[in-house]
Amino acid sequence: MPQEELARLQEERLRHTISQALKTPFYRQRFAQLKVDPGKIKTVKDLQRLPFTTKEDLRQGFPFDFLAVPLEEVVRLHSSSGTTGTPTVIYHTAQDLERWTNQVARCLYMVGVRKTDIFQNMMSYGLFTGGLGMHYGAERLGAMTIPIGTGNSKRQIWFLQFFKTTVVHILPSYALLLAQLIKSEGLDPKRDLNLHIMLIGAEPHSEETRKRIEEAFGAKAYNSYGLSEMNGPGVAFECPYQNGMHLWEDYYILEVVDPKTGEPCREGEVGEIVLTTIYRDATPILRYRTRDLASFTAEPCPCGRTHRRISRIQGRSDDMFIFRGVNIFPIQIEKVLMNIPEVGNNYRIVLAREDYRDIMRIEVEIKSELFFGDLQKLERLQERIQAELRSEILVTPEVILVEPGTLPTQEGKAQRVFDHRQM
Ligand code: ADP
Ligand code: ZN
Repeated sequence: MPQEELARLQEERLRHTISQALKTPFYRQRFAQLKVDPGKIKTVKDLQRLPFTTKEDLRQGFPFDFLAVPLEEVVRLHSSSGTTGTPTVIYHTAQDLERWTNQVARCLYMVGVRKTDIFQNMMSYGLFTGGLGMHYGAERLGAMTIPIGTGNSKRQIWFLQFFKTTVVHILPSYALLLAQLIKSEGLDPKRDLNLHIMLIGAEPHSEETRKRIEEAFGAKAYNSYGLSEMNGPGVAFECPYQNGMHLWEDYYILEVVDPKTGEPCREGEVGEIVLTTIYRDATPILRYRTRDLASFTAEPCPCGRTHRRISRIQGRSDDMFIFRGVNIFPIQIEKVLMNIPEVGNNYRIVLAREDYRDIMRIEVEIKSELFFGDLQKLERLQERIQAELRSEILVTPEVILVEPGTLPTQEGKAQRVFDHRQM
C-alpha cells in the first residue's frame, strides 16, 4: 500500500481507537483532566498532543481500567512476563485475536513459511505471548505446528529429527545452546536437521549472534520484535532482506522519541519506541512508552513493503534486563533481598554467558556475625534466599553469600547489574 494510503488508513483507525479509548475509565479520566477534545484527535500529528501511557499507568489501571468492551466480549487475556506483584493485563476480543493471528501469519509468510512447513514452537505457552502468539499465526498458514514449548532439549532434538522440522521459533540465547547440545549428541545441526527458517526474538541480540546461529544451523534467522502490551510477537519483523524490521503501520502508529524530553527523533536517530494500537478493540493504548531503544528509517525497502523499518533494539531506557527471555527489574531482586533480615546492605547481580548458557549470579553481603557462624545455617540461608528470589523472578539464580564490605561500592547511583553477556 502506498504510504499516503497507509497514512489515511491509520487516521481512520486512530479515530476508531480514540472512541474505544473513551470507553475505558483510564482514558475517560485522562481526557477529562486534559481538557482535550478527543473528537479533535484525528491525525498522527494531533496524537502528539496527548501524554504518553506508561507501564506504571497500566499497572495502576489493574484490573479493568484499560478495558473498552464488556467483559463477556473478552475471549482471552495475556499478562507481561517476569513481573509479579501487580501485573499488567491485556484483554482481547475474538476479533482482536483474529487480527493478531493475521498479523503474525503475515510475518511468517513474509520470510517464506508455507503450509508445507513443519513449525516447532520453542517458546513458552501461557500468559507469555511468545508461544500462543506465533502458534496461531503458523496454524493460519496451514503449517503443521508443534506446540512443544521451552526446555527439555533432548525432546526438542528428537522432534527436530523425527519430524524433520523446517521452521523454529526460538530465543537466540537458546538457539546457541541448542546447537551445542545437538553437537554433543554426535549430530551436525546443519547436515542432520532440516531447518531452513528460524524466528528469533523476545530478547536483545546482535548481528554477530544472528550470524552464529545461521552458521550453526545452516538456516536463515529473522529478528522478531514484540511486547505483550502491543499484542506480543508480530509487532515488527525482518523481511528477507534482513535490513531492519518492518513495523506494521496498519496495526500501530510508530513514534520514536527522545527518552528524556519526549520530543520526536529524526530518521536514523536512536530513541525510545512509542506505539499506539490502532487495530485492537478490547485494550486500546495510546502512545505507549515501550522503553525499547531503536531508530527508524523510511527508506524504501527492496522487498517493496512500505511499512517503515526499525533497527535492532539497542537497549532499554530503564534498567530492566532480560534473562532467558524473562523480563527482570533489579528492584524486584532488591525487594526480596532487603526483606531478609540476615542480608546486609550491598549486593550485585552478575550476568554471564558460560558454555552458551546464560547464568545469573547474585552476590549478597550478609551480616558479619552470620558469616563466621554455623556453616549449616549459612547453607540454609543461601537456599532460602534462592527460593525467595525464584518465587519473585521465576528463574533460579546462583546465590553467593559474601562478607560485608567485600563488594565494590560506587559514589552516586549504585550499579547493581553487571552484564558480561556478549549480545
Ligand atoms: P514477550 O512476552 O514477547 O517477552 P514482554 O512484554 O514480556 O513480551 O517483553 C517484551 C520486551 O522484550 C520488549 O519490550 C523488548 O524489550 C524485548 N524484546 C522482544 N523482542 C525483542 C527483539 N527482537 N530484540 C530485542 N528485544 C526484544
Ligand atoms: Zn523489506
